[in-house]
Amino acid sequence: MKTTITFLGTASVVPEAGNDTASFLLNGTHLIDAGWYSALNMLRYGFNPMDLDCVFLTHCHHDHYLGLAGILFYLRMRQSERPDRPPLHVIGPEADIHRTLDRAHAYLQTDRFPDVGLDPVVTRVRPGDSLEREHFEVATVAGVHSVQAIAYRFTDKATRASIAISGDTARNPAIADLAHGCDLLIHEASSGAIPMDLAVHSGHSSAMDAARVAALASVKRLALVHCAEPLRPDALAAAQAIFANTFLPEPGETVEVAPVRTLPGDRQKLTSN
Ligand SMILES: [Zn+2]
Ligand SMILES: [Zn+2]
Repeated sequence: MKTTITFLGTASVVPEAGNDTASFLLNGTHLIDAGWYSALNMLRYGFNPMDLDCVFLTHCHHDHYLGLAGILFYLRMRQSERPDRPPLHVIGPEADIHRTLDRAHAYLQTDRFPDVGLDPVVTRVRPGDSLEREHFEVATVAGVHSVQAIAYRFTDKATRASIAISGDTARNPAIADLAHGCDLLIHEASSGAIPMDLAVHSGHSSAMDAARVAALASVKRLALVHCAEPLRPDALAAAQAIFANTFLPEPGETVEVAPVRTLPGDRQKLTSN
């Protein structure tokens, strides 16, 4: 048993060739943000969208929800293959999650084509809420962004591994509190190594901002995302100067966050079977 996170995309705002907008798959079953090509990328990287338990949205800007309609459509079209599949849960900021789902259904024209409609179970999150899922404990705080935004911390009940995800946000001490001591912090770095001028660009972070949050939170590792390709090399260097254990995840890369330690007795059992 292990906790994994797969980077379905790491790009900012618009996708790049071979790199979708920032979106992540936890244990192959929990999608955090729906990048433009989420369903397609799951298939491309060896996952089955039919295994999706939940879609969490950090906020409802386009680069974080454009793939939602595709996921709903995919699950509905394949429904007959797995009629006993539990309903999909869609979880996101209380201010916008219903509107975004309604618009996704409008895009799918479910009024004209009722057979493509899929009714997920919706949870509206207020910043600060704690959620209990079957396999994860989920804590939240508000991001500092131009729309209501949620930063999440997921703790795997089986492994106790924890991953915090900033979503889009200006540098925010509350995210350091949320992420304190976690195994992996995935933080946006929209402006790369260019200092973020809050007076001009509110609601986003530089790589240095992300690294300072990681250092303040004493996390084990920091992954920089939501950073355009030309900015990435400088972003990595700038962040590592502040927080050495920083990396730039590759699209499609799966990171094992914290494997359960196998006790010697268990190992024997495993090898003898
Ligand atoms: Zn964004
Ligand atoms: Zn945004």
